[in-house]
Amino acid sequence: MNKTKHFIELDETYCAHNYHPLPVVIEKAEGVWVYDVEGKKYLDCLSAYSAVNQGHRHPKIVKALKDQADRVTLTSRAFHNDRMGEWLKLLCETTGYEKALPMNSGAEAVETAIKTARKWGKYVKKVKEGKQEIIVCEQNFHGRTTTIIGFSSDFQTRDGFEPFTPGFIKIPYNDISALEKAITPDTVGFLVEPIQGEAGVVVPDDGYIKKAYDICKKNNVLFIADEVQTGFCRTGKWFACDWEGVKPDIMILGKALGGGMYPVSAIVCNNDIMSVYKPGDHGSTFGGNPLAAAVSIAAIEVLRDENLVGRAETLGKRFREGLRNLKNEKIELVRGKGLLIGVVIKKEFGVARDYCMKLMENGILAKDTHEQVIRFAPALVIKEEEVDWAIEKIGKSLS
Ligand SMILES: *Cc1c(COP(=O)(O)O)cnc(C)c1O
Repeated sequence: MNKTKHFIELDETYCAHNYHPLPVVIEKAEGVWVYDVEGKKYLDCLSAYSAVNQGHRHPKIVKALKDQADRVTLTSRAFHNDRMGEWLKLLCETTGYEKALPMNSGAEAVETAIKTARKWGKYVKKVKEGKQEIIVCEQNFHGRTTTIIGFSSDFQTRDGFEPFTPGFIKIPYNDISALEKAITPDTVGFLVEPIQGEAGVVVPDDGYIKKAYDICKKNNVLFIADEVQTGFCRTGKWFACDWEGVKPDIMILGKALGGGMYPVSAIVCNNDIMSVYKPGDHGSTFGGNPLAAAVSIAAIEVLRDENLVGRAETLGKRFREGLRNLKNEKIELVRGKGLLIGVVIKKEFGVARDYCMKLMENGILAKDTHEQVIRFAPALVIKEEEVDWAIEKIGKSLS
C-alpha cells in the first residue's frame, strides 16, 4: 500500500480537489489492461470515458505519435502543415460530411457547435441578432465550460459559477412533444446526446432520434448530435445516430478521435453550414496541429481496420447477456448499446460507488455515474474470454 499512498498524497497535496478518484494509482497499461504501482492488474472497464476505444497504447497509434514527434508537432494555424488536410479528408470520408473544424477537447467542440449554430441562425436562418435559441435536454452532459454548464441540470456542476450564458432552453430527454412545443421561430439548434452517457447510460426510446431529427428538419432547426462519448464505434455503429439512420446537421466528436493518446476534437457538417465561417471568426492554437492529425489518422484507421464496430456490437451483446444471466438481486436493470453499458443497482442495496470499490478489489476498474449506475465500457479490443472473465468478477463483486 505504501507506494499507492505516496502518490495519492502527492495528488491530494498539489492538485485541486475537483475529482474523487478510486484509490488506485496506475503506472502502465496495454490493450484493455492497466497495472497499478503495486503490480496489480485490472481490466479497465471505463477506458477513460470511451476515449480509449482502440485500447491502451495501441502500437499503431504509438508509432504514429512517435514518428510525427520526430518531424513537427505544432505550427499553429498561422501556417499550413502537411498532416491536417490528410486527416480531415479521412475524417470527412469516415463521417460522410464535407467539412470539419478541428479543436482539442470535447467541450471546445461543443462550444464550436454552439457558435456555428448561432452564426448560422443569424446569417442563414435570419434570426434577429442575439435572439438565437438552442434547445438542450435535461440531464445532459456536454462538458465543463461556463456556457455549457449553464444549461446543465446538475446543481453541483453549476453551483457558484454564475452568471451563465443566455439562449438555451431545457426540455426533458426522450420527449418528442416537449421538443415540438419548445421550438420557436428563433430556435437555431437542438443539441442532444444520442445516448446520455454521464446521466447513467440513458438510452432513449427507439425512434426518438429519428423523430427529433424530422421535427428539426420541418422547422429549419439544426439537429446537433454530441457523439463525443457515443461516437467512433462505441455503441456498435460508427456513430450512435446511425442506429436510426440519422445524419445530424452537425456532429460533435472527441474522446476516441484521439485514440486515447492526445486530446483531439472536431465538429463535422456540410458546406451550407460550415460556410458561415470566414478567417478570424473562430480558432484554437493547438486545433489541427500535425501531432493531433497523425495520431487521429491512426486512431480512425485502427477502428476501421480492426472492425471495432463489429466487435463492439457482438461483444456488447455478450456482455449485457452475461450481466442479465447473473440474475443478481441487486441489479435492477442492464441497459446500453454495444460496449456502452449501464448497470442500475437497486437503491436498497446501496450506492454504485461501493460496488466499484468491490470491483476494484476483484480486478475490475469501473466508475459509478449518478449514485445508482455502474458504467461498463471496456476498450473495443476486448476479447470474448475477457468479457466472460469480467462477468464472473462482476457477479462475485455484487454478491
Ligand atoms: C466527455 C464528454 C464531453 C466533454 O469532453 P471533454 O474532452 O471532457 O471536454 C462532451 N460531451 C459528451 C457527451 C461527453 O461524454
